[in-house]
Amino acid sequence: MSEVPGATGPASPGPDRRVVIALGSNLGDRLANLQQGLASLCGGGLACGAVSAVFQTAPVGGPAQDDFLNAVLLASSPLPAREILRRCQRAEDALGRVRTVRWGPRTLDVDIITCGKEVANDPDLTLPHPRAHARAFVLAPWLDADPTACLPGYGSVRDLLAAVGDEGVRRMPQLRLVLPRGRAEEADISCR
Ligand code: ADP
Ligand code: MG
Repeated sequence: MSEVPGATGPASPGPDRRVVIALGSNLGDRLANLQQGLASLCGGGLACGAVSAVFQTAPVGGPAQDDFLNAVLLASSPLPAREILRRCQRAEDALGRVRTVRWGPRTLDVDIITCGKEVANDPDLTLPHPRAHARAFVLAPWLDADPTACLPGYGSVRDLLAAVGDEGVRRMPQLRLVLPRGRAEEADISCR
């Protein structure tokens, strides 16, 4: 498809910005669920650039439940945040997530942590994610994927994690996630 420099059509996408997405699972085959989540999320306008190491984390809030596996995905996308949220929810639905108990066990939880510097205050879509700054299970994998990460409005992820502490959060080097094949090249989230 050719493009006229400077032309903007009705379907013209917004500018590419970095999108940070957190994934978690504590039901069923947790690692396979995270891997399947990546497969649902990546591609089609969401270019996946890097995924963190996997961390095992103690549940925070909600009823007594098993430990989670968590990871953070760094992507870039021109898609509207609501469309990315729909993609996240479809990824959860594909794994049969049932929403009965708030903060209850789940096959897959997919949260948008940041969408560039976008700010949103709707309960259905709050950006940055309202609890990310206080959640070691988000901050630790995010720091692993991006040692210079910054949470807009809150500061450096390294400092936030130091303040929150990493109790109950354990890196699992024997567990690995891979980006869906052929999709890593779609993203260029470096500063080259
Ligand atoms: P949590 O992720 O805090 O454990 P849930 O996954 O149960 O809780 O919350 C889902 C609800 O949160 C959905 O209704 C969704 O619309 C809303 N929500 C608000 N902001 C975000 C966000 N940044 N990412 C994902 N879901 C969000
Ligand atoms: Mg969620």
